[in-house]
Amino acid sequence: MQHGPDEIRRFSQTVRTEMAKFDRWLKNDDPVTFANAMVRLCDRTGFLLRRQLASQGERFVEEGGFRERMTQERNKAKDQVNENPACPQCGAPMRMRTVRKGPRTGETFWGCSKYPACDGVTEMK
Ligand SMILES: [Zn+2]
Repeated sequence: MQHGPDEIRRFSQTVRTEMAKFDRWLKNDDPVTFANAMVRLCDRTGFLLRRQLASQGERFVEEGGFRERMTQERNKAKDQVNENPACPQCGAPMRMRTVRKGPRTGETFWGCSKYPACDGVTEMK
């Protein structure tokens, strides 16, 4: 489920509709009646927020978190901007990688963008 402007508009509309239902109690002179109406509104707001959180949890599972999506977009841009060599094993564009461990730590090489599905590498020239 998306959380775009339409959903926010629907949420706001629901809150306004609920408040209109409670209007006669919210404008009541009896403080107990007013307090009961506020408690009920808080309950309903809590229900809507829990439902929204559950929906966001499902979206996270389906699409990943914000950082994950940012990394995917950045990697897509890197593949398009640079004229990276093609992977010798699968033909996918390669990405500049840096050796993280061992005697060649810090050296760069071309690694397949499909890693870990493909482990194609070539030396930097
Ligand atoms: Zn490859």
